[in-house]
Amino acid sequence: MKIGNGFGTRKFELPGSRTHYAPSLLFTISDMRLSVEPDFNSKTISCDQELEIIAIQDIDKIVLDISELQIKSVFFITYAYNTTSNNNNTPPNKKRLDFHNYYDRLHIDLGRLITEGTAFHINIIYSTKPRKGFYFVEPDEYYPKKNLQAWTQGETLESKYWFPCIDHPMVKFESEVSVTVPMNFIAISNGILQAIKVQKQRLNEVDGNSNKTNKKRVFTWVESNPHPAYLTSVVIGKFAEMRRMYNKDIKLLYYVPQDKKNDAARSFEHTADMIKFFEQYFGIKYPYSKYSQVTVEDFMYGGMENSSCTTLTVDTLHDKKAHLDFTSDHLVSHELAHQWFGNSVTCRDWQHIWLNEGFATYCEALYWESSMGTDEFQYYIMQTADDYFDEANNRYKRPIATKTYKRPDDLFDRHTYEKSGCIIHMLRNHIGDKYFRRSLKTYLRTYANSVAETHDLRKILELESGESLEQFFDQWIFRAGHPNLNVEFHVDPANVKLKIEQTQEGDMFEFPLDVKLVLSSSSSPFTSECENGRDERRRKIEWEEAIYTFDISERENVFQIPMQNQKGTKIEWISIDPYFKVLKTISLKAPKEMLINQLHDGRTVIERIESARALKNESSEDVIESLQKTVMEDNFWGVSVEAAKTLGLIKSDSAYEALKKCLSSYVKHPKVRRAVVRAIGEFTKEDSLNMLKSMLINRDRSYFVEAEIATAIGKIKSLQSIPILKKAIEMTSFQDVIAQGAIKGLKEFNENKEIAALLIEKSRYGHSNRIREAATFALGKFVRENREVFDHLKKLLTDKWLRVRINACRAFADAEDPKAIPELTWVIEHDIDDKVTRTAEECLNLIKESMKVSKEFTTIREDVDKLKSKNLEMMQKVSRLERQLLQ
Ligand SMILES: [Zn+2]
Repeated sequence: MKIGNGFGTRKFELPGSRTHYAPSLLFTISDMRLSVEPDFNSKTISCDQELEIIAIQDIDKIVLDISELQIKSVFFITYAYNTTSNNNNTPPNKKRLDFHNYYDRLHIDLGRLITEGTAFHINIIYSTKPRKGFYFVEPDEYYPKKNLQAWTQGETLESKYWFPCIDHPMVKFESEVSVTVPMNFIAISNGILQAIKVQKQRLNEVDGNSNKTNKKRVFTWVESNPHPAYLTSVVIGKFAEMRRMYNKDIKLLYYVPQDKKNDAARSFEHTADMIKFFEQYFGIKYPYSKYSQVTVEDFMYGGMENSSCTTLTVDTLHDKKAHLDFTSDHLVSHELAHQWFGNSVTCRDWQHIWLNEGFATYCEALYWESSMGTDEFQYYIMQTADDYFDEANNRYKRPIATKTYKRPDDLFDRHTYEKSGCIIHMLRNHIGDKYFRRSLKTYLRTYANSVAETHDLRKILELESGESLEQFFDQWIFRAGHPNLNVEFHVDPANVKLKIEQTQEGDMFEFPLDVKLVLSSSSSPFTSECENGRDERRRKIEWEEAIYTFDISERENVFQIPMQNQKGTKIEWISIDPYFKVLKTISLKAPKEMLINQLHDGRTVIERIESARALKNESSEDVIESLQKTVMEDNFWGVSVEAAKTLGLIKSDSAYEALKKCLSSYVKHPKVRRAVVRAIGEFTKEDSLNMLKSMLINRDRSYFVEAEIATAIGKIKSLQSIPILKKAIEMTSFQDVIAQGAIKGLKEFNENKEIAALLIEKSRYGHSNRIREAATFALGKFVRENREVFDHLKKLLTDKWLRVRINACRAFADAEDPKAIPELTWVIEHDIDDKVTRTAEECLNLIKESMKVSKEFTTIREDVDKLKSKNLEMMQKVSRLERQLLQ
């Protein structure tokens, strides 16, 4: 029985969604001077803001976005040099204005008519104890080592929680931000550091020290490139600062906690190289005068690309062992690429956010291509596509550019990042690298320091390439989904017959598709001994390859390739889209002999991986042997990973033995070892326990392999595993990945009260965020049988750390516990964070839908369970930046 759309393809548009349009602007903000003085004790900020505003129409009042700001007074300022004044020597004149707050808006009565085109200045004095936008981080008895810091996060609509603004990406302004901090602290903001001034403040006379003064420092940063409110940033703390120069004129600044100084280079060492690469690739200079990267505590994302001053999670800093199979390059190149795509050229409205995130995602791949080569690049694109397919299959499909959503935060999903990245890759292939690069240059130059929307990009691509792209944009950007292709072929002496069927529900797609025929002379020697004498199957002959491009325009497409001129040749294999020019899934039916040839000898990583995946339906010995050989010998690790995955899916005894052989011969690449261990774990066979146990006890070279081992051990569900996993939870590792892996393993013991108690303990405030998050989610497996777990998860729904709140929602969804419905409803109505409320809504829907499915239909149950766990796994990794951390 098949489950309809209602479950598998979740709706993106939650109740309450509506069509969003960019706001009308009767005036705009052109400049902001902002003084911020934080008080770390009361967690408040006191601010003095001056806005330069330009009237677009004749106006006598203005309305600004604010949230929870205590506005003390508003003044109209007239400067001597103001165009409205004739006297150049008069000091600024401040006139108090009437104002009132109404529904998160500050209404200011200007007390005069300002005519269109006139610039004027408003001064706003306010304070706030911000719940969003501006975050204080401090040590406490549970986290005594935490650094005292404060940082801001504006995207999407959080800047209005710390300064009055028009909180919309289309309004961009210059800024001068001054931050008053204790003497040993520094403050970082947008632009260049104009001054650090020491300020003396007299201490309160009440404490008997009336003659004593308290010194503070005021950091003033000036950004002369206009930026939207959401890219405005302040970071305050004690940091080790590292300075580098790029091209003698751009300062590169890296700020990390003092005790992490030695790890900083691993994360940031390629920054200058990345700037150089992007400048060359786009043909446009880095748009700002400095680039700082600061790592902060408790950051909710991987990074945020504030104009010229990126904020990153401190978790990206890593030790030598983690560096074996973890890199900050993707995160660093992503945020850096935003300085062009997103910051210099900003999306005009949230519906066009893919112009920021899709490009930043694709730029990660572009830098990866330049630094690591074609194989790595191609696999990166395939993984990016897989991440999108995950969301499309298990959550929902939606158009990349859509005006209909509930909150702009909803748009930050795998469509905006991964799918858009893939579509940009398609565009590059569609018009060719030369015209693609030329278009990027024109786009970045035309809209520099301004805003752009989807059609602006299309018009430039059309102008530079001559290609008509409206159909392309309609199909891939403004419509949901992607083609799923069933491919079959039949070879006879005269012809190759190819049947390509589009099997996706909904609309049909039209696109060109490459098909490669690989031919060899049938008399060619098949095996030979390679140079080092090892008995390896190697081909000495040169393949003849022919690529045919077919227009796919129907549901069912049949093509014939005549073979009359190819006498004496044999088709070794036929590969579909060997350069991944089209975002699609392929279900390929081909003789296994051809697939094996393709697996061993495919030229591109994509070809070899497609055959590894297509082999999942075979289980004969020659297939197992070929996959095993690929795991151990392919010269690119990604192909080995995919072969290991296929062995895991084949699930036969000999596939299991093959995987064990791979592990015992110690496959070199840590990511391949990880995949082999994971595949072995899928078999849940008790006889792998000893091998896995000894691997964990003897420690692997990679934290991530160790984490995978711990999870695999748990899956075996032997009582012997429990003490090992308990020990693994205590192992120190990068981002606590081993502990997380062990917790994932322990959730298999969902009838064990002692484990439930352990997970409750590990989810408590005081443990590392990552351990708490993993333990919270794992508790979902225990909640149905255990009232104490239910009550504890309920408490976690109001936890200080938002990712614990998010995982508490997911745990309830995993349990499908109807008792949690009022609790999740409470979260939806009360949580301040949009990411949490969105998760709660999706989880509530999961529970409600699971209630509709009668428990008697066990086959449906299984399908539902599978979909649900995939969906929750998906939601575990909300954004690409998080994925980068978990990679
Ligand atoms: Zn981004």
